[in-house]
Amino acid sequence: MAVNEVAADFLELGPIRPPSEAYSLLIRVTRNCPWNRCKFCSLYKGQKFELRSVEEIKRDITAARVIRDEIKAFAWKSGYGDRVGEVAAMVFNNPPSDAYRNVALWLYAGGENVFLQDANTLIMNTGELVEIIEFLKETFPGIERITSYARAKTAAKKSLEELTALREAGLSRLHIGLESGYDPLLNYMDKGVTAAEHIAGGKKVMASGISLSEYVILGLGGRKMWREHAVQSARVLNEINPDFIRVRTLSVNKRMPLYEEVASGSFIRSTDEEILEEEKLLIEHLECSSNLVSDHITNLLQEIEGKLPQDKEKMLAVISRFQALEPAAKSNFIIGRRSGIYGCLDDLNDTQRHEWVEQLMHRIGADGDGVKQEAVFRLMERFI
Ligand code: SF4
Repeated sequence: MAVNEVAADFLELGPIRPPSEAYSLLIRVTRNCPWNRCKFCSLYKGQKFELRSVEEIKRDITAARVIRDEIKAFAWKSGYGDRVGEVAAMVFNNPPSDAYRNVALWLYAGGENVFLQDANTLIMNTGELVEIIEFLKETFPGIERITSYARAKTAAKKSLEELTALREAGLSRLHIGLESGYDPLLNYMDKGVTAAEHIAGGKKVMASGISLSEYVILGLGGRKMWREHAVQSARVLNEINPDFIRVRTLSVNKRMPLYEEVASGSFIRSTDEEILEEEKLLIEHLECSSNLVSDHITNLLQEIEGKLPQDKEKMLAVISRFQALEPAAKSNFIIGRRSGIYGCLDDLNDTQRHEWVEQLMHRIGADGDGVKQEAVFRLMERFI
């Protein structure tokens, strides 16, 4: 396949997208994070925030179309016809550049969704963002969904008319990091947003008709604030009533300011079992009609998912099922899950995998009390 070097160079990519946007076309509309102070976040540390010009972003969108057209043309030339997905899979497995990988994965998945990077797209001038979204839709008329990250504080500062204009242009969903609804914890973590601002921003997004995902970090309160974190997060989420509540679990690496606090002992991390108690308290206090999603690799029990309120008991039953396990089975599951051997509780019944986990536990030094918590954290953080 002919590689368009110019297009491959123009399509700039940021570092992340939410798990639910794994197959979306990534278009970087700003660089890095304008806040960049949260203690639990290492993503953009040391990187300067920058707005990108409309012209630059349009050039990237055009580059994505050039790459898409080349993959499609190659599919016809090589006898695959309209089976573009098969050719896209081949390009994805051996891409000439990250830009080709991005477009190929998107085409492989049907070429329907777009995610606008980086951390707070709403900080752009609303008119310019509308122009970008409209250009995207003109360039790719088949697009079904356009989503992005935003900060609640920025959403709160936008007028309802501005958010509505973005929805009318085609912005389908915003992903906002609530992290917690407990003010002392938000303050401690230097989130730069209060619970009241979370509520104001979240409610405004919902009122505009843009779909809203709010992310909660399980374990963020540590041993000191876990109860208030769970109860106050539920309170804020009940007020916002977002379309989706997405949970992920705190992991800590050396690039995070929180790392030093963990090392000095001023922040004591909760264990997996303690975090499940926290998640139980959170779910018990949720009185909204959101979909709860556990689509993050850091979560111990990814099968805790459902529509509130009707699936609340079903979700709590998953936690109870884990809590009813014998101590040895709990340790085996935690290690199996944290090492990527298990995906869900049912995997405990797979004798082959159970044996692998037992061997791994032996290697990492389990004693009569099970595996040391530090070893569990180390395993978990290999994925992040
Ligand atoms: S606002 Fe988001 S991206 Fe920015 S530092 Fe905080 S968690 Fe990280």
